Amino acid sequence: MMLQNWHKRLVMINVAVFLAVLSIFCTAVYLFGCSAFDTLLKDKLVSIADSAISSIDFDDFDQTLNGKPDLIVSVLPSEASPALQPMRIQWFDARGTLDIEKGTMPLALPLETSEGFQLQTTPPALVFTKPALAKGKLLGYVRVGHPLSTVQQQKGLLLQWLISGSLVAVTVGSIGIYFLVRQSLRPVEESIKTLKRFCADAAHELRTPITAILTNSSVALRHGDGMRSGDREKFEAITSGARQIELLTEDLLMLARAEQLSEQGYYRKYSTLQSLNEEVRSAMECAGRAAEKKNLSLHCEISESLSVYIDTDDLKCILRNLMDNAIKYTPERGKITISAATSSGGIRLTIADTGIGISSADLTRIFDRFWRADQARSYHSGGNGLGLPIVKAIVEKYGGSIAVSSEIGKGTTFRMQLPGTRTATVLRDSV
Ligand code: ADP
Repeated sequence: MMLQNWHKRLVMINVAVFLAVLSIFCTAVYLFGCSAFDTLLKDKLVSIADSAISSIDFDDFDQTLNGKPDLIVSVLPSEASPALQPMRIQWFDARGTLDIEKGTMPLALPLETSEGFQLQTTPPALVFTKPALAKGKLLGYVRVGHPLSTVQQQKGLLLQWLISGSLVAVTVGSIGIYFLVRQSLRPVEESIKTLKRFCADAAHELRTPITAILTNSSVALRHGDGMRSGDREKFEAITSGARQIELLTEDLLMLARAEQLSEQGYYRKYSTLQSLNEEVRSAMECAGRAAEKKNLSLHCEISESLSVYIDTDDLKCILRNLMDNAIKYTPERGKITISAATSSGGIRLTIADTGIGISSADLTRIFDRFWRADQARSYHSGGNGLGLPIVKAIVEKYGGSIAVSSEIGKGTTFRMQLPGTRTATVLRDSV
């Protein structure tokens, strides 16, 4: 499960980086494309204005200074090509009076007498004006307007291509990233499996020698008449150490079994319905004495009859571990509440305490093996850091999930989503 989360996280990070690079690339291409389209349009206007001016027969123009040149007609005849027709080309005389105009585009801007570009807003158009000079004498002005709609169309088309290209790239890229990440995590997965197998094997192998040590030291203590007091202490230390190792090996074996069954989809194959209400009641009874010692109040908030698809021993183990922790880490006169209700097609089981809480930095590590928030505190409370990993492995073994929220000094809440149902529903269904 941890590796699956890593896989998901790595895929997401890679896809995010890929998306960032792709969007930077697409933005650059789009901006470059837009500026190229603008430059092309400007070049086109300049070249039309230049050809109009260069087509003037200046000598003839001199003689008929007050006449009108036929330059426009040669550049943009009324029967011009369809590409040129939507434009506008105008000739102004030296005083700035409009003489001739051709083309269909409406052009209402006042004449700008210096050479340069202007933007018309309605209809959107780019306008270029150039004074026509002959032997240093101003003859008039050529003004060319071109609608921006064609350039906007080209820009829209470029954007469309970039978006559809990006969608294809993101889909293909994400699939590629998914498989590459899976491939690269395979060796890690293998070594984790080997490590887990080693832990389980070592725990299994340790069982026999520990049992032998425990049996022998217990026998020695039981028949310890005449034993020197120093020797008795040593045997007691051996027994206590061996008990700790025995607990540890049992926890490790339980964890290994739960994780193995979780990978095999245990819940779907073998689990049967158990009464949650009954198990919660019995867990609260078991925890009662320890809670009383610390003046803690235990509350149960389950208003209906619920059942879960979890084997009794596993359900007991979940409740025992979480209740033990709640009692251990809640100061005197605190409150522990167990609640459950149907939720998202299953059962939501919550165990909340008003204890010391866990820092948000520690919350990410809480389900790691052998991890304890405060080594000294946990040492005194006798934990080994395997309780929560076991609970998580069991919950996941049945296809459920567990989450924790906590605030330092205020308390901790464990929420589990478990497979299960309202008992009444099942009974009605099975009739
Ligand atoms: P342990 O046997 O040490 O309790 P667990 O795996 O059950 O091991 O818990 C790991 C650590 O998480 C604990 O050492 C403790 O620091 C922290 N923890 C667990 N439950 C609680 C809780 N209800 N309130 C505060 N801290 C908790």
